[in-house]
Amino acid sequence: MSGHTLSGTDTEGDGKAVPENPNAKIVDPYLKQKRTVNWNQELIESQVGLVLGVGGVGSTVAMNLVRMGFRKVFLIDRDIVDDHNLNRQILYKKEHVGKPKVFCAAEALQAHNYRTELVPLHIDAVAQWQQVVQCARQSTCVFNGIDFGDYWDYAVSSLCRKLGIPHALGGTDPITGHAVFYDFFAERHGPCALCLAEPKHREVLARILPEHILDLPTLHGIIPKDDQYRKGGSVVWACGAGADIMVGMVIDHILHMETVTGRPTPTRIFFNMLSWELEKYTLEPLQTCEFCRQTQSGAFVPPADTAPAVNPLPK
Ligand SMILES: [Zn+2]
Repeated sequence: MSGHTLSGTDTEGDGKAVPENPNAKIVDPYLKQKRTVNWNQELIESQVGLVLGVGGVGSTVAMNLVRMGFRKVFLIDRDIVDDHNLNRQILYKKEHVGKPKVFCAAEALQAHNYRTELVPLHIDAVAQWQQVVQCARQSTCVFNGIDFGDYWDYAVSSLCRKLGIPHALGGTDPITGHAVFYDFFAERHGPCALCLAEPKHREVLARILPEHILDLPTLHGIIPKDDQYRKGGSVVWACGAGADIMVGMVIDHILHMETVTGRPTPTRIFFNMLSWELEKYTLEPLQTCEFCRQTQSGAFVPPADTAPAVNPLPK
């Protein structure tokens, strides 16, 4: 696997030691979160996160995971930092423009990092899919913020279902840039990304089924690209708040917060930051879903001749 590993607490990513602050008396950087309801710091410190895309969403996701004290975080992105990223991608500063995002992200994260091993990989996730698979095999949760289109999202969902790990995906609405949508998918139960959609290209789905997904060397030439999201605009608060929601949904599930709240983690949250309305849905698996048929336990048996369930989608 390419890329390099940054670990420890006293480097800025360039190997130079950072002087210790003699006035700093850190007793426990996780003290405040440990005091929250149902928190389990030991469980959090055993987590390995795979962050797909360190852009508007992934920057804030990665910062969340490091600040919580995850054991390890993989950062995957093929892009370099552009000047128009600086309005909202919180890990980057002016001197990062023109450099690979993942290395700049790892450098920035080190300033907030007490224990997390950071693994930045400057790769094209679609073309070098097998490297994504290898990272996912080592991960306990996945955050998908890569804008490549719906079929990329289905491929990630197929992968996570096959491996039995929870994942979330999300981004800003490309039309307004002020609305965010986030989907959470548990490891095996509940819907997957395919359950929430009605894709046209069934022949593409047939190639990325859970039974095939671990063995594909690349997704290049298999999944179509949708440029709609890259053309849209977005603002810093939509990216930041949305990414926080995305992390919250996954951590909520990992910490079994349903035992506190009495309700399952929502499947889909749609937050409109123009009207300030938040809609949330707890959805059921689609009975005809090819991914779920292959990966769910015996609890889910699709009926032979009933109409497919249709899940509500945000307006
Ligand atoms: Zn499904």
